[in-house]
Amino acid sequence: MRNRLNSWNSRNLSIGGRVTLINSVLSSLPLYFFSFFKAPVCVLKELVNIQRKFLWGGSSENKKICWVSWDTICLPKEKGGLGIKNLNLFNQALLSKWKWRGICEPNSSWSKLLAYRYGSLYSNFLDQVVCEGRGQSIWWRDLLKIGREDNGDWFRSNISNVLGQGNAIRFWKDKWYGPDCLMDLYPALYFKTSMPNCFVADTGFEHNGKWIWNICWAETLSSTESDEAEELLYLLADISPKQDKLDSMRWIPDHSGNFSVNSAYQFLLNSVESNIVDENVVHALNQLWVNDVPSKVNIFGWRLLLERLPTRLALVRKGIIVNHREWCCAFCYREKEDINHLFFNCSFSIRVWTNIFKWMKVTYIHFEEVWSHFNSFGALVKNNKNAKGRHLIWLATTWSLWRARNNTMFRGVVANVSVIVDQIIFITWFWFIGRIGNNSCYKFSDWCIDPLACLHSI
Ligand SMILES: [Zn+2]
Repeated sequence: MRNRLNSWNSRNLSIGGRVTLINSVLSSLPLYFFSFFKAPVCVLKELVNIQRKFLWGGSSENKKICWVSWDTICLPKEKGGLGIKNLNLFNQALLSKWKWRGICEPNSSWSKLLAYRYGSLYSNFLDQVVCEGRGQSIWWRDLLKIGREDNGDWFRSNISNVLGQGNAIRFWKDKWYGPDCLMDLYPALYFKTSMPNCFVADTGFEHNGKWIWNICWAETLSSTESDEAEELLYLLADISPKQDKLDSMRWIPDHSGNFSVNSAYQFLLNSVESNIVDENVVHALNQLWVNDVPSKVNIFGWRLLLERLPTRLALVRKGIIVNHREWCCAFCYREKEDINHLFFNCSFSIRVWTNIFKWMKVTYIHFEEVWSHFNSFGALVKNNKNAKGRHLIWLATTWSLWRARNNTMFRGVVANVSVIVDQIIFITWFWFIGRIGNNSCYKFSDWCIDPLACLHSI
């Protein structure tokens, strides 16, 4: 993976290109290994390291700072991340496919071979207690653990049985009535049964065309247990095995009921992340991705909304700038350079925005945080039906301010309000005409006079 990623010099690629590349290199390279073996923790760490360094633009020797946590980056886009695959979870999802196939294809030669060596795959993979023993291969032991460690008993709990003839579903131990198995629902009764492993078909009989449940007890039931048993029979009253249908299994996370690696991965992803990104920011980000702008600009917007850009104050906080006097804004040299100041509160940026708003023929927006500025701006272009141009001008403005700031800082170019405003008008025109307004009959002069009218037409 390192060789493949290093063959592209990450500095020549935009960050949007890097995200695409990481996911495509990943899908071809370790996939083969990952679908057979559980990757050791140290291998996972190393792979994540390679990906992380590549993403942030450093080659392997040149250590760059990671501005957004890897957990956030691995979140799906609609939850605030970039959708880069979480290798550990993806590995688990891939391996759980073997478990699913083991229980659904008991007659395939590899299942038979494993069952010959370790016993029924069904009970090995679905029983609550794992039988660990000597002579088990490492591969087998890893497989047994998949779906049981880290995130609870997720493999087993995501499988339910659909009752057919009832001769493959265990009455007490399998989940076939509601979301729990009966042994969990009625532990006291399970303890008293004389047939803990019996199948549904063996727990009753047909009489005059009607199914009669008949649960056998090893001991006499106490009065509370008798009440529970009555309740259980009441619950089962309308249920009976269907002679014309085989028992089948359902993979709950996928609508089709069939197992898919993707649904297992999505399930795992949803179960580990816990609101890492602020709800308001996530809402804004969902609006951001809809905009049809170059991917590097979208990713810049993502970092801006997450407030993860290397402003001077952020560099001071990371210990990269040690001299506190160097945290001044590149435009005004007066205030601390943080995101709110640089993009929205600096006298220089305010002049840029004022000109932009004048061009758009709207009044100035009030805001407290980056996301609220973003939202208020979106509301100005709200007539736009499909939202893909809603934040075009906002993104171009913030992007141009950031570039001007970098040019001032690294190249000594003095930032000029009217130059930046002209740039914004040009950039947005090219984005508008090139990506969004292909069929529109607008001319550049129309864009200069009334951009909102053009945007409302798409
Ligand atoms: Zn300033």
